[in-house]
Amino acid sequence: MSIANNEYKYYEVLGCNKDSTYDELKRAYHKLALIYHPDKAKSKKNNDNANETGGNLNNKKFTEIEEAWRVLSDKDLKTKYDAECRQAELEVDNLLIYDRINIKSMTVEDDVLSYPCRCGSNYLINSDEFTESIYIPCSECTFCIYLEK
Ligand SMILES: [Zn+2]
Repeated sequence: MSIANNEYKYYEVLGCNKDSTYDELKRAYHKLALIYHPDKAKSKKNNDNANETGGNLNNKKFTEIEEAWRVLSDKDLKTKYDAECRQAELEVDNLLIYDRINIKSMTVEDDVLSYPCRCGSNYLINSDEFTESIYIPCSECTFCIYLEK
């Protein structure tokens, strides 16, 4: 099991942070929605089929932006979301962090990254699970490491 470090992700998607005001969020949303709108991606795609992957990525990004804005623009949903993020943050704070390392310190074997824990066990993660900075709990004890991207 691993805990992704994605609190306040919706703010990140909009290029904002948790202290951004409603107006700042709204401006950011409109700007991004214009850039990533599927209609824009499609018209580009018609001219160049090689852009297809880029179009799909844009679609995914656009969906993320829409979802982020749907939650952050709604007062009730935003309050609930902020509370969930705070809770997640607290839980992460309560983890006993044994070490902060980067991928160079990990041992790689058959796509599995490992790092020795002081309890004698190992922190393990599949290399394809490591897409962003992540907390990895020890399989045996209560320590975890923070693997930085
Ligand atoms: Zn351990």
